[in-house]
Amino acid sequence: MRLEGKVCMITGAASGIGRAAALLFAQEGAIVVACDVSKENLDVLVDEAQDLSGKVDPYLLDVTNRDQVKEVVERVVQKYGRIDVLVNNAGITRDALLVRMREEDWDAVISVNLKGVFNVTQAVVPYMIKQRSGTIINTSSVVGIHGNAGQTNYAATKAGVIGMTKTWAKELAGRNIRVNAVAPGFIETPMTEKLPERIREATLSQIPLGRFGKPEEVANVYLFLASDESSYITGQVIVVDGGLAI
Ligand code: NAP
Repeated sequence: MRLEGKVCMITGAASGIGRAAALLFAQEGAIVVACDVSKENLDVLVDEAQDLSGKVDPYLLDVTNRDQVKEVVERVVQKYGRIDVLVNNAGITRDALLVRMREEDWDAVISVNLKGVFNVTQAVVPYMIKQRSGTIINTSSVVGIHGNAGQTNYAATKAGVIGMTKTWAKELAGRNIRVNAVAPGFIETPMTEKLPERIREATLSQIPLGRFGKPEEVANVYLFLASDESSYITGQVIVVDGGLAI
C-alpha cells in the first residue's frame, strides 16, 4: 500500500475529486481526515469507505473560518500525533462575465479558493515543520494557467494557488516539505454538472482525448504526489486535462 498509516487531510473531501481521493487514499492504507462543509455527504463517504484498508475520519470544516480550521487541525494532531499530507482541494465557482460579476461572487470565490488554501496550510505547516516532513498538494486548474471567459474570480484564485505553491515549495523545502499543484481540465463532478450543455459541448470539442476526465483520474495524481514515489518533485504544477490546454 502506498500510504499505509499516513495521516492525510483532504478539504472538500465529500464530493467530486475530493471524494475520489478520500476513497483512493483509504484504499492505499491512509488515515483520511476528510473535511467538508456538507455533513450529509461526509456521512455517505464514511459509509462508502467502510471496507477499505485505511479509514475515513470525517470533520465538518469550512476552510474560510480560521478559528474552525485551527481547532480542527489541533484536534487531528491531538488524535493522530501528526499530519503527513495536506490536500487543499475545496473549491467553488461563481461564474459571470467581468462586466456582470457581482462583488459577492468575487469575494466568495477568493475566500474559499485562495484564502481557504492559505488558512488551512498556515494551520498545518507548523506541525509538518516540527515533524520535519510533509507533502502539500494544492488544487489549481488549467483556467489558472490559460484564463477562461466568465471566470475572472476563479482564474485569479487558481493562478494565485500556483503562486502560493511555488512560494511554499521554496520556503519549506529545507524542512523536508514538498508542495505541488494539480491543474485539472474539465472533470465530471457536481461542479461541472451545472454548466450549460452548449459550454460542455464546446469544451469537449477542444479536448484531444475526446472525453471529459473522471474524478479518479485526478485522484491518481494526488496519490502520486502524496506518496514517496514523487520524493524529488516540488514546486510543480501537473496538468490533468486530456490535452485540453496543449
Ligand atoms: P465539487 O464536486 O463541488 O466538490 C467540492 C467540495 O468542496 C464540495 O463537497 C463542497 O461542498 C466543498 N466545499 C465548498 N466550499 C467549502 C468550504 N468553504 N470549506 C470546505 N469545503 C468546501 O468540486 P470538484 O469538481 O470535485 O472540485 C474539486 C477541486 O478541483 C476544486 O478546487 C476545483 O476548483 C478544482 N477543479 C475542478 C475541475 C472540474 O472540472 N471539476 C477543474 C479544475 C479544477 P458543497 O458541495 O456543499 O459546496
